[in-house]
Amino acid sequence: MKKLFLPLLALLFLISCSAPRGSSSSRWMQENGKIKVLSTTSQVGDLVAYVGGGRVDNWTLISGDLDPHSYELVKGDGEKVERADLVFYNGLGLEHGASLSALLHKNPKAIPLGEAIRKKSPELILEKEGAIDPHLWMDLSLWEKSIEEIVEKLSTTDPDSSLYYEERGKELQSRMEQEDLQLREMLQKIPSEKRYLVTSHDAFRYFARAYLKEAGEENWEERFTAPEGLAPEGQLSPVDLQAVILFLQKHRVSVLFPESNVGQGVIGKIAQASRDMGFPIRLCTKPLYGDATGDLTYFEAMQRNGELLAEELSQQ
Ligand SMILES: [Zn+2]
Repeated sequence: MKKLFLPLLALLFLISCSAPRGSSSSRWMQENGKIKVLSTTSQVGDLVAYVGGGRVDNWTLISGDLDPHSYELVKGDGEKVERADLVFYNGLGLEHGASLSALLHKNPKAIPLGEAIRKKSPELILEKEGAIDPHLWMDLSLWEKSIEEIVEKLSTTDPDSSLYYEERGKELQSRMEQEDLQLREMLQKIPSEKRYLVTSHDAFRYFARAYLKEAGEENWEERFTAPEGLAPEGQLSPVDLQAVILFLQKHRVSVLFPESNVGQGVIGKIAQASRDMGFPIRLCTKPLYGDATGDLTYFEAMQRNGELLAEELSQQ
């Protein structure tokens, strides 16, 4: 019995050693007859995987709760970029970690979807204090415009499948149009005077313009504010603190929304400062999905954002 048991343990040990963590990424590296695509974020990768269907093997580099603004290459990332037939990324300054950004910018097979949208529809791109706001995916109708670029680049790489990609691209466009309408409908049910949003960083400006504003409202930027700028910094200046507290008081907002991948230190301080001044503010117990989608797909994350806001803002 003892003799049989020990070799079994040794075998199990060998099996576990031969299947290291990240083995699915090793599988992605292997040839399987499909076009190999590397996408930086799930907002990019979920669109690419849909359009590519069974003919494309997508790998998303920055997954889970990782921050795309500051992501730096880790061991094995360089090989993945090397291996990929195509690399799709958000662009417009989102992926600004020095090592990743250097690898993307000098790479002829790396396609910035945000830049493609900006070229076609520059009037729809938001800026803040002279910097481009890269969070385009927060407006489904705007992010949908990247599908054309995905279809085009996949078709150039794999011309035999171009009809297939076109077909799937159209399917995805109509799905996103539908989801965009549903989301707007869901959020417009919140009374206008309660449709004001405060989160950790400036990830929700496109969202506010698309879903929180009244039809034709010019001052829609008033609908959203955040203490941290276009990339989360984790620091709070007295000026930022005061601006957010004034916003909360002016619009009678009583709930702050943490983001799934941003620490709650800064908005926690705001809630405390506001309470100290006699204006009770609470932190929502569930987070919004801004830059990261955790275990969810991009579409699920947008849906959750809509449901959470519809419920929490209406209750204020
Ligand atoms: Zn962000």
